[in-house]
Amino acid sequence: MKIGIIGLGLIGGSIALDLKEQGQEVVGISRRQETCEIAVKQNVVDKASRDFSILKNTDMVFICTPIESIIPTLKNIIPFLNSETIVTDVGSVKSSIVYDCSKLWHNFIGGHPMAGTAQQGIEAVQRNLFVNAPYVLTPIDSNPPQAIDKLEHIVQFLHSRIYKCTPEAHDQAVAWISHLPVMISTALISACISEDNQEVLELAKHLASSGFRDTSRVGGGNPELGVMMAKYNRKQLLNSLDKYSQQLELIREQIEQENWHNLGLILTKNKQVRPDFL
Ligand code: NAP
Repeated sequence: MKIGIIGLGLIGGSIALDLKEQGQEVVGISRRQETCEIAVKQNVVDKASRDFSILKNTDMVFICTPIESIIPTLKNIIPFLNSETIVTDVGSVKSSIVYDCSKLWHNFIGGHPMAGTAQQGIEAVQRNLFVNAPYVLTPIDSNPPQAIDKLEHIVQFLHSRIYKCTPEAHDQAVAWISHLPVMISTALISACISEDNQEVLELAKHLASSGFRDTSRVGGGNPELGVMMAKYNRKQLLNSLDKYSQQLELIREQIEQENWHNLGLILTKNKQVRPDFL
């Protein structure tokens, strides 16, 4: 198969590398010429260009650009696709992309490989990045079943764990396990630094250890990524934040009322269910 990868960064480059090593013909497109040259030199792709005509006769195209560029990129590449070409994306949110893209291209199927590192760009490309990681596909009713099967067949080359669900179910699930934790974690840092007593604040900074490191990590990460999550997954994130606020209030009430028994029940139940998520 001839596969096109647009956006030769961490995710796009890593998909390209694994598919090329599995014997697929892989052509790449990126924004900067320098990235295209590095991608060819490092054998990430067979050919690379900034020119969309390289996509002629591709069987499948992965759009791996930042989220805000996915829909404009699809519009730009349509004149270079065959009517059977399957197009997918790797964006971390799905509803705000999938429905618009499916209107533009009948063979568009959303996807989200759930692996990554803190690094970005072509230099961050990794072999086998997606092995054993979840890869979510979000087909919708208008997608031809053969196109879904073909995409699934190609994704299997990455040795990921494939899940299929609606774009809405994907977005609500990632709101719970990814986007909500970022907001809670950043609120934790805000709350700590709101301490009025400077001596206490300084002491807290010196005493902070693994517990604070774990709970503040995602909230102290890339600010652009956090804004992107909120902007493109707003509805589901607001739903999760509302339910989280209710739970926090419930815990607060038990402490205020010195209801140690109920607080213990909450903590015991959560100790039991936590492993189900990990
Ligand atoms: P990245 O490392 O920054 O790679 C994106 C690359 O796309 C850039 O290196 C840039 O390459 C290129 N690019 C930017 N705008 C472009 C455009 N308009 N046309 C063509 N190429 C363009 O980012 P990433 O982490 O791979 O993320 C890419 C996508 O994967 C995002 O949609 C994100 O939601 C999704 N995702 C990320 C992760 C993660 O953990 N990072 C996980 C799952 C999914 P040059 O400027 O060098 O040419």
